[in-house]
Amino acid sequence: MKKTGIIFFPAFDWSLGETHPEREERLLYTQEQIFEEGVMDLPQIKQYTPVIGDLFDVLRTQAIFPGPEEHSLEAHLVAVGCSLVLGKALMAREIDNGFALVRPPGHHSGTIVWGNRGFCTLNNEAILVNHLRANYGIKKVAIIDTDVHHGDGTQDIFYHDPNVLCISIHQDGRTLYPGTGFTDEKGGPNAWETILNIPLVPGVGDEGFLYTLENWVLPRVQEFKPDLIINSAGQDNHFTDPLASMNVSAQGYGRITELIRPDLAVLEGGYSIQGALPYVNLAILLALAGEDYSGVIEPQKIKRQVVGGEVFRSYLKNLKKQHDMTKPAWDYRKEKFLPQGNWVYREKSIFYDTEYFQEYRQEYIRECEHCGGTVLIITQNLQTYRRGVLIRIPFEACPACCQAGYDLLEFFKAKEKIVLMQNQLKNEVHFWKDSREVRSFESKN
Ligand SMILES: [Zn+2]
Ligand SMILES: [Zn+2]
Repeated sequence: MKKTGIIFFPAFDWSLGETHPEREERLLYTQEQIFEEGVMDLPQIKQYTPVIGDLFDVLRTQAIFPGPEEHSLEAHLVAVGCSLVLGKALMAREIDNGFALVRPPGHHSGTIVWGNRGFCTLNNEAILVNHLRANYGIKKVAIIDTDVHHGDGTQDIFYHDPNVLCISIHQDGRTLYPGTGFTDEKGGPNAWETILNIPLVPGVGDEGFLYTLENWVLPRVQEFKPDLIINSAGQDNHFTDPLASMNVSAQGYGRITELIRPDLAVLEGGYSIQGALPYVNLAILLALAGEDYSGVIEPQKIKRQVVGGEVFRSYLKNLKKQHDMTKPAWDYRKEKFLPQGNWVYREKSIFYDTEYFQEYRQEYIRECEHCGGTVLIITQNLQTYRRGVLIRIPFEACPACCQAGYDLLEFFKAKEKIVLMQNQLKNEVHFWKDSREVRSFESKN
């Protein structure tokens, strides 16, 4: 019999404020519903207990500046830990799939963490993916983000990584936070076409959403041939969600899950905590467990206008045309600190909406035919004016990219106050402050 793992971490003592949509009781009703419906008594369900995640797992994937000790991470680390528990259970073949029903969410949290963005501080799925790659020989992973908001943090983390396919289906960024996720964001020079954004018009319901999956998302996933599929399972596409304008139903979510067939699903957003979350989560769980979800019906009916049929199909056709027409245009730079090779440059400004400040970022990526390429990021918090430098040697780095990473470290550790080295190849993380190494982590496996 197939087994489905489930782990709850409702984080009842963590919130962003009493009136905030991301509030303490967000998962309370879900938990009640799932217990009441007897899901926990199904023989194929196996429940796991939350544990606190390891900081090393976080820093392998995300650079926390000015340093982890300057943020309050407890709840976030448990959400991370829960995702890892299910990941390990999957690898040990104790389960065939699983659903981490956790908060705080993570998909707006990117490569650099100066604070909380879009309710997220640590990126649960990205940390999970890199943990599985580092410890279990997993090579290729597809992340399918079905939250109504663009999974910009996840995209940011894997933008230069050819072995992670990030697909985000979301309400068009011109009408919703975070304002990104357009079809021309397709990945860096060594990872072109491994980012796929599908911004949908507000109003899409089950039919249009499922059509998008069947006609664009699933064929792309099949072509990529991932070892694992992770679903960033946001539920704010539901027609009762207070933050967005989509028209997906609980049963629609059940069907989405059936089509995606994720190995692991990790909860993201969803703020209609009584009207939608309990039903959507239930439908997802039943679908994962191979049970009938046709009896899951939310108390409210859709009252909004649904965009579907030919109108939607021609919208999607045009969108795909736009997507296919976008060709790469790289900005090459030669700076005195850059080691041998061709380096592509890009600049970014990132808004931290929770604490209202801006991050300014300069990013250099070594073009490489043999590996994902070394990444250098120089970042500044424009509120405190503190700077940080991240050097990343990627998984399966080639010798030249590896050397480039060490050369950059030599240059920057003497010059900059805060430098973090993510050596994914060697599974090590090193933190330098004022030219001194203050922390180092190595794999315990
Ligand atoms: Zn969301
Ligand atoms: Zn290389």
